[in-house]
Amino acid sequence: PTLLSVCSISSNPYKPEAPMKAPAFDYFRATALAEVFALLQQHGDAARVLAGGQTLLATLNMRLSEPALLIDIGALNDLRGIHVAGNNLCIGALTTHAEIAACPLVAQHAPLLAMAAPHIAHLAIRNRGTLGGSLAYADPAAEWPACVLALSATLVLTSARGERRVAADDFFTGLYTTLLAADELLARIELPVLANNEQQAFEELARRQGDYAIVGIAARALRQDGCLRDVRLAFLGLGDKPLRAPQAERAMQGQRVNELTLAAASAALQSDIDPSADLTNDVSTKRHLAAVLMQRVLRRLATT
Ligand code: FAD
Repeated sequence: PTLLSVCSISSNPYKPEAPMKAPAFDYFRATALAEVFALLQQHGDAARVLAGGQTLLATLNMRLSEPALLIDIGALNDLRGIHVAGNNLCIGALTTHAEIAACPLVAQHAPLLAMAAPHIAHLAIRNRGTLGGSLAYADPAAEWPACVLALSATLVLTSARGERRVAADDFFTGLYTTLLAADELLARIELPVLANNEQQAFEELARRQGDYAIVGIAARALRQDGCLRDVRLAFLGLGDKPLRAPQAERAMQGQRVNELTLAAASAALQSDIDPSADLTNDVSTKRHLAAVLMQRVLRRLATT
């Protein structure tokens, strides 16, 4: 494919030592997946896929990343859209945060996503940023990674070698790292549609609307005879990747939600998590917030 060379205005003229714009890179707007695969195979780590650009372009401008080639996948409409297939809700990687927030199929079959979407940044960013970009970037404070973990999503990765399917539980491997290989794209996610007796809930605390969360939680459970079953609790902002809370989940298994069980789950949660302090919150604050948010979502799972 023919690449377009983009030269940057390399620095602020008033402060030449402080770069303000992205380094020079080649740019290619793909019209077919095969073109993306060929370029990824040829350039390896030197190439980056460009989706909504809401994270990638900022990291380029800050010189946190200097890829030689950007492969724009924005025209690949096969990677876009939301539909139901059998018992799964399928969401293409290029679907924007705003499209997910507004989609009736999402509200019906995966309401957790509709609850979480308004917490992602601001509307302008939600209009451009994509599900796939967020999952591939794997920011531990982002909303979608915790949601796909709570909902037992399958992530479908594609490359010249074909497709492979990865459980959300396995996809996130560490800080900003995932199982995606350098020559792979995230194509779509598949979520089991909401069961009859299933409840979902989302809570987060951020300093200001639109900021990344200090702590957040995505949760789902089945409700049977007033008790919770198959509880899945997935936290954001508590570690180097989105985290399940297996001991707290076990503490609530088959239980009614009341002061006693909430206290037991909160105690169990403290063994599940090992948060680090951030710029404004120390470890004990984060532990406390995690327990408070977990109690709120558990109450909602039991009552809504
Ligand atoms: P891009 O920026 O285009 O790409 C991001 C990374 O993912 C790149 O490395 C790219 O190569 C890779 N990538 C993209 N698509 C694919 C794919 N299909 N397969 C493989 N790799 C791919 N996010 C939140 O979750 N919560 C927030 O509160 C939040 N606040 C924000 C505030 C600001 C001011 C900004 C600028 C961003 C914020 N974001 C937040 C990030 C935003 O949600 C981004 O849209 C998202 O993280 C990346 O999506 P994108 O489509 O823009 O990806």
